[in-house]
Amino acid sequence: MSTTGPTDDQLDLLLGVLQLTRSDEMTCEQWLDQVGSYLRAVRETGPLSEELKRIEHHFKLCPECREEFEAIQTAWEEK
Ligand SMILES: [Zn+2]
Repeated sequence: MSTTGPTDDQLDLLLGVLQLTRSDEMTCEQWLDQVGSYLRAVRETGPLSEELKRIEHHFKLCPECREEFEAIQTAWEEK
């Protein structure tokens, strides 16, 4: 019996991770391109489109973009 292959549990975990990071997940670059529209929408238009919800989703998952977001938001508020 081999002990080198992944167990079923490990495979499930791996597949889950892959699904989480699939094509509907935007990249940090795409995120940065759209974060301006997101902030504008939050300030001016209220309900978010699906597209903008993805922005929100991304910065909740991505610590780097969350930091970036907080910096941008602060800059906007100082305008
Ligand atoms: Zn990111």
